[in-house]
Amino acid sequence: MNKLHKWSWLFIAVTIFALVIATGCGNTNKTAQSDNKPPSAAGGAPLTIKVLDIGQGDAILIRTKDQVVLVDTGDVPTKEKLVSMLKSQGINSIDKLIITHPHADHLGGAEAIFDNFTVKQIYDSGQKTTSNVYKQYLTQIKKKNIPFTVVTAGMTIDLGNETVLKVLAPDKQLFTGTESDLNNNSIVTKLVYGEFSMLLTGDAEKESEERMLHNDAAGLKSTLLKSGHHGSKSSSSVAFLQAVKPEAALISLGANNDYHHPHPSTLKKYNENKIKVYRTDTDGTLTVTTDGKTYTITKER
Ligand SMILES: [Zn+2]
Repeated sequence: MNKLHKWSWLFIAVTIFALVIATGCGNTNKTAQSDNKPPSAAGGAPLTIKVLDIGQGDAILIRTKDQVVLVDTGDVPTKEKLVSMLKSQGINSIDKLIITHPHADHLGGAEAIFDNFTVKQIYDSGQKTTSNVYKQYLTQIKKKNIPFTVVTAGMTIDLGNETVLKVLAPDKQLFTGTESDLNNNSIVTKLVYGEFSMLLTGDAEKESEERMLHNDAAGLKSTLLKSGHHGSKSSSSVAFLQAVKPEAALISLGANNDYHHPHPSTLKKYNENKIKVYRTDTDGTLTVTTDGKTYTITKER
């Protein structure tokens, strides 16, 4: 074997070695990404909830060790912000997308979500509207053939790792004739992991709160409350707050919003019931981490 041949063989050997390493690493990364489990994504906690600061609207990211769940998608103008927020968390697919009700400030980002992420399952309140946002939502679901479930009170949605969402509303018989039927028929769920729980209320108003109190007042008790309807006075009735008995309320809303959310009377009720207040307009994204026993709420600013 002359000198040239020796160098050729060495070059081939090095190339094969590099290819083996690269392929091996590639597979590892692929598996991690497809399982939505980049090492630091959930901050190491078994359950992380982020009430995302997407301005006026709701978008709540829930991550267990097994699943990525998004409750609502914010409004149309913030859809790209939502996409980049999720991508910055290393997310490329969403196991469960829950649309509490079809108002634009909850559904507006859905189109961008479908364009940028694989959505494996949708849970919907079953309410239809004539808005373009809603029509586009349905069109995309049909085009992408995404499994679609209409949820009603009594159902349980399994998020893996012993974490569940208990559906408390709407009842099979939807509200009609209230000030906002779309709001009152919002999907309300209680996120439960060990001793920790958080009530996610969408925009449910006092009629829905009364019905939930009637159905199972004791079952409402939760560690934390995602404030109903962005802290509006149409929600957070005293009887409801006293049944939920949350240690803190997290309000998702835009700064200087047109609706004057949150209402001073709601903040007063929280104060009187010793409920701490966190709000996305002043605090930015709110991150709750829990091990099922204790929890921490971190403000972005
Ligand atoms: Zn809303």
